Amino acid sequence: MKRAPFEIAGETVAPGERRIVAINLARLYTHTPLDLEIEVIHGRRDGPVLLVCATIHGDELNGVEICRQLMLHRSLSRLRGTLLVVPVVNIFGFIQHSRYLPDRRDLNRCFPGSERGSLGSRIAHLFHTQVLRRCSHVIDLHTGAIHRSNLPQIRANLDNPAAESMAREFGAPIILDAQLRDGSLRECADQNGIPLILYEAGQALRFDNNAIRGGVRGILNVMRALDMLPALKRPRPALQPAVARSSYWLRAEADGIFRSTLKLGQRVSRGQALGIITTPFSSREMEVTASYAGLIIGRNNIPLVNEGDALYHIARFDTVASAEKRVEAISEEIGAHSLPEEPPTI
Ligand SMILES: [Zn+2]
Repeated sequence: MKRAPFEIAGETVAPGERRIVAINLARLYTHTPLDLEIEVIHGRRDGPVLLVCATIHGDELNGVEICRQLMLHRSLSRLRGTLLVVPVVNIFGFIQHSRYLPDRRDLNRCFPGSERGSLGSRIAHLFHTQVLRRCSHVIDLHTGAIHRSNLPQIRANLDNPAAESMAREFGAPIILDAQLRDGSLRECADQNGIPLILYEAGQALRFDNNAIRGGVRGILNVMRALDMLPALKRPRPALQPAVARSSYWLRAEADGIFRSTLKLGQRVSRGQALGIITTPFSSREMEVTASYAGLIIGRNNIPLVNEGDALYHIARFDTVASAEKRVEAISEEIGAHSLPEEPPTI
């Protein structure tokens, strides 16, 4: 029996067809319409409806390139189910190079939203009702904030078996069992019974090749596990991500100039010096030391810090040594194999 067409935002996409569907979100002051654009790829055969979305924080760019490379991937011609790709959710922020909306709200705190609420609430409502509710699975793409980079990692509610399985299949070096945040897309998906995993990699306003590569591979891995794509002819060795027990932010205890001596992915022991805070004129150096052992999964890149600023995000594990090995193995594997569609970036 022929598969039914996919209906979204008043448009109909036939089986075997792919099309960009636009939903009008708002207008600029200039009266120029702003559309939320979704590439809909409706496979000929039944299967899950996967949403891949990026840039809910408007300055987090790796996800835009991940979406672009995903949409070019040849294997999509054999898609089972339906793939919805939204490279830019927060269009206002994207235009302004900003994480936020013009009213300074965080769109990822506006869900589920309402028709009569703030701008953010209205956009969230539209995305929730017109896009999210049409899906059976979601992968939400993020990066660290401005001046902060993240080691590629998946955040998910591991109590949800479907989300846990997607998190493992994705194959990022680290999995964090993250608390739901009020008003986030992740919480909204959870309330709708839709498993969602969040990929965090790299930093805002920059491209990071390994973060992009790991993102494209991870989405394809999840799609294969969901039987949306055929299995690889030559399967890669199954590498297990390191699942963190918890994580903490190490914060600056003084204002000043910060010199970091450690990079992402490095292992730290309790009490180890990770950098110093000094001032332009003094010889005084304050050591920044780790409160607990773990792996650095996020770090501040700007040397100017105020007391209380987050310097390092450190994940804790039952056995740090084995977590370090897993992270190294996956990071090497991602770094070593470029995708055929990937343009050379230097
Ligand atoms: Zn984000």
